[in-house]
Amino acid sequence: MLYVRSFARPRLVLSACLNLKPVRYNGLFVRDEFVLKLTPYCELIEVCPEVAIGLGVPREKVIVYLKDGQYRLFQPATGLELTERMLSFAEEFIGSLSEIDGFILKSKSPSCGVSNTMVYKDEEGKEFLKKGKGLFAMEVLKRFEDLPVEDEGRLKNKEIREHFLSRLFAVADLRESLKNIEKVSQLMEFHKRYKYFLMAHSQVRLKAMGKKVAEASKGNLKEALEEYRQLFLQAIKRKPSRGQHANTILHIFGHLSRNLNKGEKAHFLKLVEDYKHGRVERKLLIEFLKSYAYRFENTYLISQTYLEPYPEELEG
Ligand code: SF4
Repeated sequence: MLYVRSFARPRLVLSACLNLKPVRYNGLFVRDEFVLKLTPYCELIEVCPEVAIGLGVPREKVIVYLKDGQYRLFQPATGLELTERMLSFAEEFIGSLSEIDGFILKSKSPSCGVSNTMVYKDEEGKEFLKKGKGLFAMEVLKRFEDLPVEDEGRLKNKEIREHFLSRLFAVADLRESLKNIEKVSQLMEFHKRYKYFLMAHSQVRLKAMGKKVAEASKGNLKEALEEYRQLFLQAIKRKPSRGQHANTILHIFGHLSRNLNKGEKAHFLKLVEDYKHGRVERKLLIEFLKSYAYRFENTYLISQTYLEPYPEELEG
């Protein structure tokens, strides 16, 4: 029978001008296909920091510049210094958030940009210094360093997008699951389901988390869950390399290969080599593993999050 995976609904903070509202300086919004595809799977919390600090729509452009080592926000056409207003809005907004799983902010923006924001040497924006981040995004990144925070520009890169989606849905699942865990056995079940997902990210952390689960007991469950949560968030921060994925795939294959004939084994191992060298996509190997797991009725493997970390419709 087909295993039907269910996914937690991530709570996602989204820049309001990404498909939602015409709040950009020029009175327009930005259409982004990936964000359009993702948002029906999420619970959205929208934010437009520039409108929130009282700038109207349309408005004169604002810029980021560096002065005495501090990033500042300025509106050259009106001479308005906006740094303190933006920082105090960011603090208030961030403080009002609860149970957030991730952020998608607007790239290049002096407020929301996670990457590629123009930073100037002067408040008039005449001399370009470097590319950096927007002021609001800087505060978000400081406060939520363990959560997936990206902008729609970086998410055009397939590897960054896949890692973002994997993290976003895993963080949401972790949040929902931990809320309902009342027994150590339920924590064990959760950890079991994430074994290969965690292995792909970090074998060392997988081991540490396994130890944490083994030490959990009825008496210390609350503290154990909090420590597990923190370890989990840290473990999945870095994008796994091809080598780490190949190693994880071979571990899964190890459960299945004894049932395969010589030709099937050799064929799969060749595909793993091809994947390592960038000649085939990981998706191909995952589909082989899923098919073998179904064929040999290996429910432990079929239920592994690694084989489908987020809804398939979001792939591509
Ligand atoms: S980038 Fe941020 S501040 Fe600018 S319009 Fe979009 S949501 Fe508002």
